[in-house]
Amino acid sequence: MKRLVILGGGESGIGTAILGKKQGFDVFVSDFGKIKPKYLDVLKDYEIEWEDGGHTEAEILHADLVMKSPGIPDKAPLIKKLVEAGVSVISEIEFAARYTKAKLVGITGSNGKTTTTMLVAHILKQAGLKSVAAGNIGDSFAKWVALDDQDYYVLEISSFQLDGIETFAPHIAILTNITPDHLDRYEYNFENYIRSKFRIAENQTEEDYLIYDLDDPVITAWLDKHPVRSQLMPFSISKKLKKGAYYAQEEINIITDDTMMTMSTKNLAIKGAHNTKNAMAASTASKLLSIRKTTIRESLEGFQGVEHRLEQVLKINNVSYINDSKATNVNATFYALDSMNAPTVWIVGGVDKGNDYKDLFPLVNEKVKAIICLGVDNAKLMHHFAGMVETIIETQSMSEAVKIAYKLTGKGDNVLLSPACASFDLFENYEDRGRQFKEAVRSL
Ligand code: ADP
Repeated sequence: MKRLVILGGGESGIGTAILGKKQGFDVFVSDFGKIKPKYLDVLKDYEIEWEDGGHTEAEILHADLVMKSPGIPDKAPLIKKLVEAGVSVISEIEFAARYTKAKLVGITGSNGKTTTTMLVAHILKQAGLKSVAAGNIGDSFAKWVALDDQDYYVLEISSFQLDGIETFAPHIAILTNITPDHLDRYEYNFENYIRSKFRIAENQTEEDYLIYDLDDPVITAWLDKHPVRSQLMPFSISKKLKKGAYYAQEEINIITDDTMMTMSTKNLAIKGAHNTKNAMAASTASKLLSIRKTTIRESLEGFQGVEHRLEQVLKINNVSYINDSKATNVNATFYALDSMNAPTVWIVGGVDKGNDYKDLFPLVNEKVKAIICLGVDNAKLMHHFAGMVETIIETQSMSEAVKIAYKLTGKGDNVLLSPACASFDLFENYEDRGRQFKEAVRSL
């Protein structure tokens, strides 16, 4: 019996444990922290051995295969030891993909993964295909494969998951964009991060497709130097293309080998240039899976967006309150500001991951009437943006920030929470931050 050791008892770890057990492995789960009670129940149900509160090397080092949770960095001493001992250390998507014959759509990029994944999954569901969204979304991919295998998986894939692949090859890969993020895990080397994202295409063949943003100079420069085997399907909001998808005159055009389809962006519920890109990527993938044009059109029009991503919360005195708490980097906030069509009071701040704010300057000059800095340390924001707007204020709680925003707005204005920063100073996570924003707005 082969020994499968799973490091990390979270969603992907527990899913892998179930699938491993089903596939006849001797499974052992080890978590450095505490495993949640709901996951412990599953381990007990399936009679899977486990430990938490530390890793016992004697149980781990003789593994035949190790699945490591994406949260554990490659430089962790235990991982280094395993690699030195010649044990293959893989990620959940690598493991799960070995046990399904389903068609895989894999979606990665710095921003837009969740939105694009949910869009594709929504279209596939509307088309009546047996399919789910998985990966970083909802139940783990491995658990689906073990308990209710599908015909199609739409997988949201982080670079950390891609770092642990060996043979994983989605039939359709989508690379939404690449901007600096998570560099702490890549030796502060942007190249390493780019290379990691492109691994989504490394095992693809000529039968497969890579959908990517042709307007992203990082992606195109990399592709010039490192060609892939799969068929290229670019999308662009600035250039007319003969193949792929492009945007012109409020219409999206999608051209694959055998068909062309056009749809108006006016009827899309999700707004902004970034969402036009997400919609182009999702419809290209759907077209390649031979889904009917009307299904694609209707599904896109019916898609209401994902919570905490430019989410319209309320209108009070004709002021729109918008929750973009998921904007944890500058690029996401760039598109949020870009999509504002009225003077905006902008709530920004949190844990700065080494942000370079200069890309935002023109948009701030054009659209922002006041800035509310929300975080434990607002010095960097104050330094960069004081002088650019009439009002810039420091706050340390969401309710205070929202109350001040309320006072600063006039009819027709927007209040936008788009932090460009991580949330761990004042909040549990970005969801908590978004929820607190919505509660504060509702109690105005
Ligand atoms: P991810 O899963 O990659 O974090 P999300 O869909 O959750 O992506 O969106 C994260 C943030 O980025 C949100 O603020 C959202 O409005 C913004 N965003 C969504 N799509 C894009 C895109 N294509 N380019 C840039 N920003 C985007």
